[in-house]
Amino acid sequence: MKQLYINGSWHDGANVTVTHSPSDLSEVVGEYASAGNEQVELAITAARDAAEGWRNSGVQQRADALDKIGTEINERKAELGSLLAREEGKTLPEAIGEVGRAAAIFKFFAQEALRIRGDKLASVRPGVDVDVTREPVGVVGIIAPWNFPIAIPAWKAAPALAYGNTVILKPAELVPGCSWAMAEIISRSGLPAGVFNLLSGPGRIVGEALSKDSRVDAISFTGSVGTGSRVLAACAARRAKVQLEMGGKNPLVILADADLDVAVNAAIQGSYFSTGQRCTASSRLIVEEKIYPAFVAAMIDKLKSLKVGHALQAGIDIGPVVDKSQLDQDLRYIQIAKDEGAKLAFGGERLSRDTDGYFLNPALFVDCDPAMQHTREEIFGPVASVIPAKNYEHALQLANDTEFGLTAGICTTSLKYATHFKRHARAGMVMVNLPTAGVDYHVPFGGSKASSYGAREQGSAAVEFFTTMKTSYTGS
Ligand code: NAP
Repeated sequence: MKQLYINGSWHDGANVTVTHSPSDLSEVVGEYASAGNEQVELAITAARDAAEGWRNSGVQQRADALDKIGTEINERKAELGSLLAREEGKTLPEAIGEVGRAAAIFKFFAQEALRIRGDKLASVRPGVDVDVTREPVGVVGIIAPWNFPIAIPAWKAAPALAYGNTVILKPAELVPGCSWAMAEIISRSGLPAGVFNLLSGPGRIVGEALSKDSRVDAISFTGSVGTGSRVLAACAARRAKVQLEMGGKNPLVILADADLDVAVNAAIQGSYFSTGQRCTASSRLIVEEKIYPAFVAAMIDKLKSLKVGHALQAGIDIGPVVDKSQLDQDLRYIQIAKDEGAKLAFGGERLSRDTDGYFLNPALFVDCDPAMQHTREEIFGPVASVIPAKNYEHALQLANDTEFGLTAGICTTSLKYATHFKRHARAGMVMVNLPTAGVDYHVPFGGSKASSYGAREQGSAAVEFFTTMKTSYTGS
């Protein structure tokens, strides 16, 4: 059994979680200790005790440790990618790509640790110096979702450590294997005891305790809007710093002047790759009437050629849905879409394969009304809805007609419309002639409206969340 990592040593939990491969339910992938209140207390105490020493550590020590972690993750990309594919269900190339991204993130923040800057300002008073410096926040609790089980823990843990914070990572119970492997690598990286702690366990115990405990200075959360709202309320009650990345219902607009191949590739990748289980998935395809029939026909053609199957099988485009409850949710929304009058143009049924897994044929609904429930709520599966638009202005209005605001995309060859869309799409990230999913690891990531709350993640933007500013005045 894989244990919890607390204060520099390995610990049993209150329970054991067993994971099975969604590609083959007969395959046990891992057995993991699952924390209870006793281990939560140990981890918070350890992170608190280590915080003072780590905030005063030299940045070279931090950079060396992060670089070493990135190097080992990269060297073990194939092995960890296979673990990720088996436990979460991403296809092997996608899973290896995600592990590579986690390695790159650690390497990036190894360098960022050496670039922590301040500011020196002229004072309005003669003989006075003003300095603005960045300091660590303290103890950071990280609450992660299952759908990027190594990239998301890495893009939160690496900056937290680089900027001198101690960390308690709570991965999703559904897919804890990669966080465990990351913790094992971190345990050999030279970080002092208590600086990084792995606390796998249920959200309602571990996640809630971290959110409510006044010894945890900040919470970085990624997950659903519902859980994020609970985390926000708990942090607000004790005035803790909090950052939330949550769901999306991302529009991809296809204008009549779009290159059809570019548009179909963007829509297929954005809607269905990673089995549609991405916060940035293109689940609303808003298509101008003039290109509508050609786009739908090309989408159906392309969908017919996609292979759904075991995540480790060569040549597979789409792996299984992560678990039974997500599969049930996908099937429930497919039924809702049918009941509310959307036309099912492709897929939508459970598939059987050589192994017993949660395989779902990607679903394409056409002629959807923007008021339909399935076009408004996040499904988080391989289900996309095509909504007709009369013209660009109508398409933009439909794109913005959502409570979410994570990503928005447009496919067009018109500079005028691309520029207008970049200005007026109400989303934190805008893509032109690209899928709405797929972002660089070193640039700011985040949304608007219900999708995000607080400072942005990733890249140099991470310094905002993982540090606090101090302004000092010195007289003569
Ligand atoms: P979730 O159910 O909200 O869970 C996210 C994390 O919160 C898990 O670790 C979960 O623990 C924990 N949790 C559950 N209850 C909690 C509580 N009461 N207090 C504190 N923590 C609690 O989300 P998910 O199903 O894992 O992930 C899918 C969602 O994440 C989708 O909505 C997707 O759009 C969103 N997402 C957003 C982004 C982004 O960057 N915007 C990226 C990826 C995913 P357990 O589940 O282990 O019990």
